[in-house]
Amino acid sequence: MLLYCPDCKRLYAEEERCPACGKRKGREPQAEDPCFLMSVGVIWSEMAADLLKQNEIPFEQKSNQGAAMAMLTGLLSETFDYYVPFARYSEAKELTDAFFAQNGEQEAEETESEEAEKETEEE
Ligand SMILES: [Zn+2]
Repeated sequence: MLLYCPDCKRLYAEEERCPACGKRKGREPQAEDPCFLMSVGVIWSEMAADLLKQNEIPFEQKSNQGAAMAMLTGLLSETFDYYVPFARYSEAKELTDAFFAQNGEQEAEETESEEAEKETEEE
C-alpha cells in the first residue's frame, strides 16, 4: 500500500519512509492529492509537459531553482518538479518512465542490453 506525505507531496510504500523528509506520518492518498511525479531539467520539461497534456493528465509544474544556484550555474541547471493528482499518478508515471526510458536521458541504466539483442540475419 502507498502512503502520502502531505508535507512533501510524495508517495511511498507503507513500510518505508517519505523519501524527502524521512518521516513516517503519511496518510492514505486521496484521489485529488497532488503527488510528486518527477523532477526534470529545463530542456526536458517542455516535452514532459507536452506528454502529460497529450494524455489529458492535469499537472502542476514548480520551478526548483534557488536564486543562489541561478547565479552560479545559469538557466540550464533549472529543474522543474511535476505533480499530478493521485488518481492519475500511476498512469502519469508509466508514461513518463516510458518516455525517459526511450530518450535515455533521465536514467542511463541498462541501455547496453539492446546491443546484445542485435540480430544479424542475412540471406
Ligand atoms: Zn515528507
